[in-house]
Amino acid sequence: MKKISISAIIVTMLFTILSCSNDDLPKAAESAYLNYKTKTELELPFDEEWWVFWGGRSVRENYHVALKEQRFALDIVQRIDGSTHIGKGSQNEDYHCFGKRLNAPGNGKIVDVINNIEDNIPGEFNQDSPTGNRVIIDHENGEFSILAHFKKGSIIVSVGDTVIKGQELGKAGNSGNSSEPHLHYHLQTTADPFDGDGLPAQFLDYYADNILVEIGEPVRNQKIKNQ
Ligand SMILES: [Zn+2]
Repeated sequence: MKKISISAIIVTMLFTILSCSNDDLPKAAESAYLNYKTKTELELPFDEEWWVFWGGRSVRENYHVALKEQRFALDIVQRIDGSTHIGKGSQNEDYHCFGKRLNAPGNGKIVDVINNIEDNIPGEFNQDSPTGNRVIIDHENGEFSILAHFKKGSIIVSVGDTVIKGQELGKAGNSGNSSEPHLHYHLQTTADPFDGDGLPAQFLDYYADNILVEIGEPVRNQKIKNQ
């Protein structure tokens, strides 16, 4: 069985990648969609300002790039005063984004929900359930949004529901292959997170580092929020 981790191996991956020479870095997955224009009208799937931990099209900016399905994926957290958490960050409640509302990024139909996976203790991973609690939205145009690592029990939509852009799906958590609370988001061609092609996800009308972007793809280190 093919099983590629949807993961936020946030800290370890960061040091691995930053310390690699270009020759040692994993290769970007091949993609027929490099020039793809997103069909769904997408907005950032959260309120307030968040920060892009992994995002962009190069392996150095975004470790997901090596994986076909996650070729254009994002890992997003909230960061205040240079940190994703208060204190030692030893419990999920220390993290700024934990429990924050997550929204549908675009209109569509819910085709998959997992809502019963325990949240991890920060620094530990649940590799038996890579996505953890998740929501998959069929945008009914060949594009599917995958949002992963929700807080256990927080998802308030069900399979078959129609959702509109901005509607609450659940709360950010730390379930699955996740080292600390964050949102994993990507767009792809199928409803199976382990079998499909990643698609570029261009969001409309958001601020990146306080500059209004009419259409764009968030990249690593940007502060982003909806207009
Ligand atoms: Zn991720």
